[in-house]
Amino acid sequence: MKLVLIGAPAAGKGTQARKLIAKYGLAYISTGDMLREEVAKGSELGLKVKDIMSSGSLVSDELIIAIVKERIKADDCKNGFILDGFPRTVVQAEKLDELIGSIDKAIYINCPDEALLERITARETCPKCGASYNKISVPSKVPGICDVCGEHLTQRKDDTVEAGKARLATFHEQSEPLVAYYKKQGNLFEVDGMSGVDNVTNAIFAELGD
Ligand SMILES: [Zn+2]
Repeated sequence: MKLVLIGAPAAGKGTQARKLIAKYGLAYISTGDMLREEVAKGSELGLKVKDIMSSGSLVSDELIIAIVKERIKADDCKNGFILDGFPRTVVQAEKLDELIGSIDKAIYINCPDEALLERITARETCPKCGASYNKISVPSKVPGICDVCGEHLTQRKDDTVEAGKARLATFHEQSEPLVAYYKKQGNLFEVDGMSGVDNVTNAIFAELGD
């Protein structure tokens, strides 16, 4: 099973990805995580990526495709995989189709911006132990204090209203043509991200089948 996961920041992609992996035995492929890992390891690829990023450029489609091409050869992809953060554009989606035939399903978790903004700005993390909270869905026992270590919780710089709005605008700009592409291909499954975590999961499972 070859899946692409599409959703704005805070739409709940991570949560749904974990459930899909557990049910179908899929590999989880986040190109963003992979690039960050390569940079951290200081590999040949990592050094190349670091150069590109520090010059303010985007990593080219060719490079990303080459990374994905290698990654999906790995053993853990034998039952299939979920791609997160790739493809980001229609050109990348076309190149992916060239590489693997076509995907089985693009799952788009759709949520209204106002709700996403509320979730994004409700996020808190502990600067000491790294625990993460959400004032709405996963609050700490004492507001503003880490349950684990008692440190004062902080907000990430990109979890403010202004930064959140900018991230959502970028998401729409990039993802809307992508959503249209998969719709035309007949492979889009759109799910209402506001229907509750379990309902979203059940809708996706029902679509994909056992
Ligand atoms: Zn803590």
